[in-house]
Amino acid sequence: MTVLDAEVIVLGAGVAGTAAAHVLTRAGKRVHVVHASAGATSLWNGLVDGLTGDVSAEEKELLGVLGLTFARPRPRVINMFGMPRTAVAHDSAILDLEACRPKLIVVPTLPRPSWDGRAVSAMLETYAKGDFDVRTVAAPKLLSPGELSAPDGTVALGLDDEARFTAFSAELESLMERWRNTATALLLPPWLGVSLARAPRLADTLALSVGEVSCGLAGAAGMRFAVRRDLHFAKLGVTVTRGRCSAVSAAESGISLELSDGTSLRGTALVVASGGFVSGAMEMPRSPAVSDVPVAQRSVPSLSFQAPFLRAGSGGSEVRANGSVFGTTPEDLIHTMRSPSLLDALGILTGERGSPLGAEGLRVTVAGDAVADAPRTFGAALRSGIRAAQALLQR
Ligand SMILES: Cc1cc2nc3c(=O)[nH]c(=O)nc-3n(C[C@H](O)[C@H](O)[C@H](O)COP(=O)(O)OP(=O)(O)OC[C@H]3O[C@@H](n4cnc5c(N)ncnc54)[C@H](O)[C@@H]3O)c2cc1C
Repeated sequence: MTVLDAEVIVLGAGVAGTAAAHVLTRAGKRVHVVHASAGATSLWNGLVDGLTGDVSAEEKELLGVLGLTFARPRPRVINMFGMPRTAVAHDSAILDLEACRPKLIVVPTLPRPSWDGRAVSAMLETYAKGDFDVRTVAAPKLLSPGELSAPDGTVALGLDDEARFTAFSAELESLMERWRNTATALLLPPWLGVSLARAPRLADTLALSVGEVSCGLAGAAGMRFAVRRDLHFAKLGVTVTRGRCSAVSAAESGISLELSDGTSLRGTALVVASGGFVSGAMEMPRSPAVSDVPVAQRSVPSLSFQAPFLRAGSGGSEVRANGSVFGTTPEDLIHTMRSPSLLDALGILTGERGSPLGAEGLRVTVAGDAVADAPRTFGAALRSGIRAAQALLQR
């Protein structure tokens, strides 16, 4: 059995865990991050909401480290369907209408199920209300036949390759020839590189503003986040274990984490930034396969790892079994009379400053989507990661 020792353990490497690890390491702590595979941040669309009020210098620094542009006036970005909307910050590859103030936007069309350039252009024009014009350009050879059916993230990854990017850029140059003196912006799907920032290079080559629409599910934004997070962890000296935590135990003397491969981790403090249903930290356990199960035994949503001092719930109390005889039904999680729905609100019950409810004496704090009733936004998760780390430092 492997046993690792760390000063502070951070469970989860989405934006909340990353922010916590950043603050703790900067304060001189030896931090070890444990994370499984993807969470909400990996699936996210590249737009930051939820940083309400003043944005601190540390929050701005973290946004920058993660390759996100924070600007005033608020960025106005365009989603996959051509609808503009504002955000607090955005993946820097995304086109900001406020920053470039376009006069004429060109949108490519090509035979690809996930990109309807004509619909994007029509929708954008509807919302432009005379601020700018939109034109489409047929770009049947912009992607290779293999790329045409590949996910957006795969196309973006392909454009990290210099030879592929050079060919892509040359094709765009030839397509934009007829717009040379009139177009002021080029709007593309979310393809502009993962490790390498391709939008500024294209903007230089084409002499206009170039950017993406925001991502669909599991696109380039989450991949870029992971690349930048890992670079930042390496720079800070944060150590990382990839693996699924199966149990956490805590006592006055310290914290222990057990991973499903048998690895054990010991630390003096813990930040739980394990996300919600999307990351697999919350689950609906399998119900007993018998009818007429007593209420006390009906399955309810719970944490997917054992942690006796953490209580899952919402609105200050644990979830009770309702719905079918087997427990909470999925419909009950989604179509509730509550806003946000139970699915969005379920998490770890916390009290003051992210401390787990009922276990305030422990050196443990909870952050991000893992917190019950917290807004499920990138900005709120980043802020709560910072605050959870600061709260630990003050104990
Ligand atoms: C499709 C989509 C679109 C979104 N759009 C927006 C938007 O427009 N604007 C906005 O502001 N926000 C948006 N969000 C929400 C935002 O992305 C999330 O609120 C935020 O990223 C949550 O970050 P987190 O760090 O709290 O959790 P997560 O990113 O879910 O991270 C959880 C981490 O915990 C780890 N983990 C979980 N369980 C275990 C375990 N047992 N063992 C080890 N590791 C574990 C996971 O591997 C992961 O690293 C969107 C989210 C999604 C999914």
